[in-house]
Amino acid sequence: MTLADPRTAPTRLAASVDRSIRLISTGASSGSTCSPDLANGPWEFDGGPSAYGPGASMGDVIPAGAPRQGSLPEAYRRATDDELHARIRAAKQALGDRVVVLGHFYQRDEVVQHADFVGDSFQLANAALTRPDAEAIVFCGVHFMAETADLLSRPEQAVILPNLAAGCSMADMADESSVEECWEQLEAVYGDLSAVDADGRVPVIPVTYMNSSAALKGFVGRHGGIVCTSSNARTVLEQAFERGQRVLFFPDQHLGRNTAKAMGVSLEQMPMWNPRRPLGGSTAEELADARVILWHGFCSVHKRFTVDQIAAARESHPGVQVLVHPECPMPVVDAADAAGSTDFIVKAIQAAPAGSTFAIGTEINLVQRLAAEHPEHEIFCLDPVVCPCSTMYRIHPGYLAWVLEELVAGNVVNRITVPADVADPARLALERMLAAKPPAAVPAGA
Ligand code: SF4
Repeated sequence: MTLADPRTAPTRLAASVDRSIRLISTGASSGSTCSPDLANGPWEFDGGPSAYGPGASMGDVIPAGAPRQGSLPEAYRRATDDELHARIRAAKQALGDRVVVLGHFYQRDEVVQHADFVGDSFQLANAALTRPDAEAIVFCGVHFMAETADLLSRPEQAVILPNLAAGCSMADMADESSVEECWEQLEAVYGDLSAVDADGRVPVIPVTYMNSSAALKGFVGRHGGIVCTSSNARTVLEQAFERGQRVLFFPDQHLGRNTAKAMGVSLEQMPMWNPRRPLGGSTAEELADARVILWHGFCSVHKRFTVDQIAAARESHPGVQVLVHPECPMPVVDAADAAGSTDFIVKAIQAAPAGSTFAIGTEINLVQRLAAEHPEHEIFCLDPVVCPCSTMYRIHPGYLAWVLEELVAGNVVNRITVPADVADPARLALERMLAAKPPAAVPAGA
């Protein structure tokens, strides 16, 4: 394990999206942001009624019943950045090995600099396994990530999400009742969903992206399905096709479409399932021909990337390599030089010869951090507008300081716990994925 070194903070802060937004909002920078409200503290939006707050997901609607954050104590809202960093460092020092702090790739730098591990959601959940003696796992990510860490950690370990309003708009686009209803409608079309054909395959295997609630992972586990990440989606689909005639893929239509297309599945065999329409908006005949049924979900961060942005990057930077995440729409993935997970993007940049130029289609916090960490390359975000993930942005150093100081005082706040009746089948779905291909953890600073 590598602890984040505070001496690296000036370098990290040079990559800060938060700082970029503040400069834009004060007119000190000529850049643009999707929302000037990003310059305010997230606590100003915690009680908001309908959206996720400023950032890329701000137009998405929060489902009823989504966890909401209570009021952050005023001392943390009023503290300066320096005060918060000092309080976080002091609390971590007091807690020592009793706590492990995980920071997602898309998290703001002011939080990531305090993380013991940085990585994608599944890498971080696995990284926490290397700290079985830690009493608390503070997950600086979003809600489904904390749930996954709770599924994989020991029961006595408390998984803490510093801001309960840090959900994921894409994960929230597929709720358990809508998926149950879909399953019933598919049963009406395909007949008994547990009956096998002459090749030993059932009519449909449910596959959920890691970016989904524990309830959906549990649904998948109960119905013979499997979880996938953006790193192993193809491997998982291949395994699913060995056991099923077709796949129901949720919640991200783009990852499902891009992966299946690369495997040779035609677009005609990938109908979209819109949960608001009978049979998802398809006919029974279309569903009978389907190979992959795509849930009507998307990531508002990756949906911002366009083919025009790629054309502009190629024109302004001849020889540029365009790398995008597979949550981007299919035309963007097709126009890019390569598409892959955040881990793929990080490793591609690390492996490139000095002097390379990259235009990246993924969340801005990771892109700016990569640009700062790799001065030997020119790295920029495809989207010229600074527009971070709204929900990741809900984790501010003020919340991290609060949960850590509460731990020092002996109080566990914002604990995320998955009930046993959900956890058992959800773990089964994760275990099926691990049997397919486990991704590796990345220590902080790697
Ligand atoms: S970047 Fe997209 S998928 Fe990831 S947490 Fe944000 S909204 Fe969810």
